[in-house]
Amino acid sequence: MSPVVFTARAADLGGGVTVRRALPVRAKRTIGAWCFLDHFGPVTAGAGAAPGIAVGPHPHIGLQTVTWLFDGELVHLDSIGSRQTIVGGQLNLMTSGAGIAHAEIDPPVRPPRLHGLQLWIALPGWMREVAPSFAHHAALPTVVGDGWRATVVIGSFLGRTSPAEVHSALVGADLTVAGAGSFAVDLDPAFEHGLYVVEGEVALDTGEDERTTASSGQLVVLEPGRAELRVTATSAARLMLVGGAPFPEPIHMWWNFVAGSREALERAVTDWNDGDRFGVVIGSGLPRVPAPRPTWLSAPT
Ligand code: MN
Repeated sequence: MSPVVFTARAADLGGGVTVRRALPVRAKRTIGAWCFLDHFGPVTAGAGAAPGIAVGPHPHIGLQTVTWLFDGELVHLDSIGSRQTIVGGQLNLMTSGAGIAHAEIDPPVRPPRLHGLQLWIALPGWMREVAPSFAHHAALPTVVGDGWRATVVIGSFLGRTSPAEVHSALVGADLTVAGAGSFAVDLDPAFEHGLYVVEGEVALDTGEDERTTASSGQLVVLEPGRAELRVTATSAARLMLVGGAPFPEPIHMWWNFVAGSREALERAVTDWNDGDRFGVVIGSGLPRVPAPRPTWLSAPT
C-alpha cells in the first residue's frame, strides 16, 4: 500500500497556545503504540509575541507522555512530587499507570525560542493499573551519518537503544538533516511507521517508482513490510520518525485519557472533576483544567 500523507490540524491548548496535532487522525488512530503527536512552536518570546506553553494541572491514564524539546525550556510538575526542568535535547517521560496529574509551565526566565513535540504512547492493558512514575533523560544515544544525525529518543533505531523505559516494541527517533541531500536508514519491517516533518521538506523513496513528498506539519504513514526508508531533503530538515508493532489491543481515547473501555474513560472524567484519585499538583500557579464530558453521553438534563 502506498504511503498516506496527513496534514496536522491546529489544536488549541488553551491560554492562546495553538499546536499542530498530527495524531490521532480518524483514518489512523495509532502507529504502533504511538497514539498522539502534538508539535508546539517554534515560538519566540518578546514584546507582542505568542505565549509559551503553560498548561495547568490535568490528569492522564493509560499512557506515557513523551515531551521532547528541540529548543527552549519547560518545567514539569506532577502529583507524585516530581519537579523537573527540561531543555532542548532532553526527554521527559511520564508513565501514568492508573493515574497521575501534571502541569507543564514556562519557567520565569527561559531562552526566547520554544519548540518541541509531545507524544503519547498507549500502555498495554496490564500496565493500566500500575503506580505512576516519572523519568528525565538528559542525554540520549545518537547515530551520525553523512549529512544527517539521528537521536534515539524512544526504543531502538539503527542499533542504538534509548534508556527510556517503554512497554512495547517501539521506535521514536529525531532525524536532523544538515542540507540538501539523500540518505537511507533501515526500518524494522515488523513495524508500521510515521515520519512527521517538523521543519523542511522531504521526498521519500518508498518502493519501485514510488515517491512521496511531505513538508513541515505533515505526517507520512508507512505500513509494515518496509526494510528501508530513503529520504531526500531539498534543504535543512528536521523529522520525527515514530513506529512500532501494530498495537494489538483496541483502545479508547477521550481528552487526556487512554483506556480499554468507554466506562473507564467516564470514570476518569468523574474522578478528576469530583474526586482526589489523581492527587494534587503543587506549585504550578495555574488552575486545574476540568475534564470535558464525553460526547457519547447524552446531554445532562
Ligand atoms: Mn499532559
